[in-house]
Amino acid sequence: MRMSRLMLKTLREAPSEAELESHKLLLRAGLVTSFAAGLYAFTPMGWRVIRRIEAIIREEMDRTGAQEVRLPELNPVELWEQSGRAQSMGQTLFRLADRKERGFVLGPTHEEGMSLLASRHIQSYRDLPVTLYQIETKFRDEPRPRGGLVRLREFTMKDAYSFDADWEALDASYAAAYQAYVRIFERAGVPVIPVAADSGAIGGKESQEFVYLTEDGEDEILLCPKCGYAANAEKAEFTPPPPVPGAALPIEKVATPDQKTIASLAKFLDVEERQTVKAVFYKVDGNPVFVAIRGDLDVNEVKLKNALKAQDVEPMDEAMVRRLGLIAGSASAVGLEGMPVVADASATTAPNLVAGANEDGFHLLNTNHGRDWKADVVASIALARGGDACATCGTPLEVRRGMEMGHVFKLGTLYSESIGVNYLDEGGERHPCVMGCYGIGVERMLAAIIEANHDANGICWPGDVTPFDVHVVALNLDQDGMTPALAELEEALEASGLSALVDDRPDSAGIKFKDADLLGIPTRFTLSPRSIEKGGIEVRDRKSGDTAVVSVAEAVGGLKR
Ligand SMILES: [Zn+2]
Repeated sequence: MRMSRLMLKTLREAPSEAELESHKLLLRAGLVTSFAAGLYAFTPMGWRVIRRIEAIIREEMDRTGAQEVRLPELNPVELWEQSGRAQSMGQTLFRLADRKERGFVLGPTHEEGMSLLASRHIQSYRDLPVTLYQIETKFRDEPRPRGGLVRLREFTMKDAYSFDADWEALDASYAAAYQAYVRIFERAGVPVIPVAADSGAIGGKESQEFVYLTEDGEDEILLCPKCGYAANAEKAEFTPPPPVPGAALPIEKVATPDQKTIASLAKFLDVEERQTVKAVFYKVDGNPVFVAIRGDLDVNEVKLKNALKAQDVEPMDEAMVRRLGLIAGSASAVGLEGMPVVADASATTAPNLVAGANEDGFHLLNTNHGRDWKADVVASIALARGGDACATCGTPLEVRRGMEMGHVFKLGTLYSESIGVNYLDEGGERHPCVMGCYGIGVERMLAAIIEANHDANGICWPGDVTPFDVHVVALNLDQDGMTPALAELEEALEASGLSALVDDRPDSAGIKFKDADLLGIPTRFTLSPRSIEKGGIEVRDRKSGDTAVVSVAEAVGGLKR
């Protein structure tokens, strides 16, 4: 490709709206252009990289025996009503109606569609296992599209779904997808770590995310520096500090004027925060829930949601608090009526905790679970924080930020049951297939590749995703012998099956070299009257900056993969 013909515009400075390094470089290198928040168009250069990323994903998925298919992006809404997600996905779903007012959704993911396709083909245990995948556009009405290509409203996702006879067989399909992911990220040059992820309230069993650690990531990851335990904050387990021991003492009401927070209360009474119990009010699927947790801990709302098998958990609104007569700052489960009490195990095992007296300005000393109050549900619902003890080895956990790059998930039978993907076993008995699902976002991968592979001068593409194999900078093309020399080089490259971006523009060497660094193709050839005089072509490695002048044959031979 001659650069004089390529539709490409590089920028010296990144537009001010770009914050992430990848976003800046995507714009500066002219790979994308924004149409609206979360909507991007790809230029020829940008699209070449996307195609290379897709090729890696395709190769590695095919290698596991997964089969590529294609589903419609426009889904009848009935399919989503069947699974319950027409409701549970809420406003994230893009909905529309056809001319006959029939409802449709634009697929944000395709568990339903893939299940429908599989249900038409899977009949007996002989049809299993099967893993299907597609690389297709997804639509999500994200409230906050951000970070260039990191969070989009229209994006490409490789989504794969496995169908197995039982959980044991699913383990093998899951392991195969996991291995494919390890290879995909390695080839794409994105260093990732697998972290345990939340698998939801219903059906799911095991779930891992592949996370690229970066300070700019949206996800909080807790890592154990000793044993390697890694989980996202929603899922992370930890061992809370032990309670202050002691035999149960008699309950006692004390005046605590103006002590509305745990910190001020603990100071006022000269106790540790772990010697208090905190009351948190929630609205769970529309109903009030009283949560009791030790004062030094916070509630993990995802764990709470899972413990209650709920769809929706949100802090209780003022109106409901008032209607129920809850005394914020002095509430407790002692003597509480009219709503279920959910307790973190921390609040039920510690003796003699300070709790609210359900009376403004008063607290109770020495409350004990079992004697003074009783939780309806006891569960592990505390949020892990940096410095908390690793549940496996006790080492303080570290907090890191990361970007979720891929997700593997043992789904179970939720969709096979609702959509009807069943098989007959050897005895002729009918069972729902056990499903797994596996996703990778393609555009986000492009962003992470740039995040992980750039320097002060621009992008440094890993070899497997580079838009061209070589960047040829041709200088002084108007001088004698240069045109045939360039033609000879282009022929040699073509004969070797190598793709080249040839900078034949009349610009200065300085501008051309700057653009070559910015565009980031791993190898640069410089062809000039001077290089010819020295014996051929100057070959420069983008990453190391090493240069050497070699013959055309040697230069082209060195590029072959
Ligand atoms: Zn550990």
